[in-house]
Amino acid sequence: MMAHQKHREPKLFYHGINLEERLGPDHPLRRVAKAVDFSFVRHEVADCYGVNGNISVDPNIVLKLMFLLFYENVKSERELMRQLPLRLDWLWFCEYDIDDVTPNHSILSKARRRWGAEVFDSFFLRVLEQCIDAGLVDGNIIHIDSSLIQANASKDKLQPELQLLTQQVCQKLEDEPTQSTVEETPLDDVFDDDEPDLNRRVSPTDPEARLAKKYSQTTLGYKDHRAVDDKYGIITSTITTAANINDDKLLTETIENHESNTGSEVKTAVADKAYGVIENYKYLHDRGSKACIPHQKRAHKKDKFPHEAFRYDPHKDCYVCPAGRKLPHVRYVGSSRAHEYRCARETCQTCRFFSDCVMSKKYGRTISRHEDSEYIEWADSCLSSENRRRLLSRRRAKAEGSFADASNNHSFKRCRWRGRTMAAIQNLMIAAVQNLRKLLRYCYRKTAANNCMTTISRCKQLYLSLRRLLQSYHRLFLAKMSKYLLFKEPML
Ligand code: SF4
Repeated sequence: MMAHQKHREPKLFYHGINLEERLGPDHPLRRVAKAVDFSFVRHEVADCYGVNGNISVDPNIVLKLMFLLFYENVKSERELMRQLPLRLDWLWFCEYDIDDVTPNHSILSKARRRWGAEVFDSFFLRVLEQCIDAGLVDGNIIHIDSSLIQANASKDKLQPELQLLTQQVCQKLEDEPTQSTVEETPLDDVFDDDEPDLNRRVSPTDPEARLAKKYSQTTLGYKDHRAVDDKYGIITSTITTAANINDDKLLTETIENHESNTGSEVKTAVADKAYGVIENYKYLHDRGSKACIPHQKRAHKKDKFPHEAFRYDPHKDCYVCPAGRKLPHVRYVGSSRAHEYRCARETCQTCRFFSDCVMSKKYGRTISRHEDSEYIEWADSCLSSENRRRLLSRRRAKAEGSFADASNNHSFKRCRWRGRTMAAIQNLMIAAVQNLRKLLRYCYRKTAANNCMTTISRCKQLYLSLRRLLQSYHRLFLAKMSKYLLFKEPML
């Protein structure tokens, strides 16, 4: 018979609701709560709170709410707080009961400002430590890459930095008009940038964000520089900079950060050609690591012979061109720290490759060689071509895959808040959540595999004892049979 749902009468009181029982034993948040200890934050932020005044929300709960924001990819803090009373699993995770009053969304922004990025860095490091303990990090081969993040500001409303600073100073003077306060205000507080460029155009909403161009698209924002371990793709370092900082400047810092976070030495660094500059090769060479980084090739016209078509002869200190002619050393250019090698114009003019090789209207073909070029040659030869191809293809899966996962599942590509510190907090939390998801998946698989192995070993034991029993019955039967045949004894 078909049932009919009765009209629901609103109840004044509900009895027998137990969140602990309502949440299934395999719920992901139950596994998160079991794996991560959020209570460390109470000790870390103890200095940020006074002993008198209003009682704050427990920092442990604030960190859990921040975690939920990224783990569940909720679009805003207001939305998180709107959904919190409706989600039993979130209430259980944040240690609230069904009839508890949930806090206002503003506690999260206040806590972020009060705590700073260090607390979130500690959280990231704690999750990373658990990944290391679980054997998910090898630490010897790392993939380095960066990705742009769009600022929470419009790039169409930029102003010259000078104008913005003048407005800020005027505002400050209006807010604090007393002479003593103006005198005490140091000018360094206003010019907090390392290299102030007063003609640069910045956003008044997020003055720390910078413009960067990639694939003919201009982005106002920040950049996340990551080191991803080769073994399971665990993120071992994340550094946030303004978007206009070149990738090659961060290689050294990323490697040092990885080593201090994991305690293991980098043996091979894998990165794309944006990192392929001589300073990086020299750094890796001097510390005894291998480089799997393609170097930035010099731009040349398609119909001209590239630099790579010329062979350097170290014994005679000259280049040999595709026609077999020598290009002797002519001069050293101090500004570019490069030696120049040139073929005589008369020689080139008689060559059949002249139109395909020479661009100058005055000289023969000139090749310049940086004084540290041996590091490029070292980088080209320190790994076999097969290994290099394999590592570069793994880099696409591990480093680029890590950013793709962050963009698809954790809204990585756009800043939720404003300022570099807030962008750093966002990147640290996303990296921690990504690592934690991998850790839980691995531990769950390991537990499932252990359970499976236990069942198999029990089955094996049962089979062996059954076999022994059957063998003893078989022997008994044979003995009885032989007695019956020989002495005509009854079988039973
Ligand atoms: S043009 Fe000059 S440098 Fe070029 S291949 Fe001929 S001889 Fe060599």
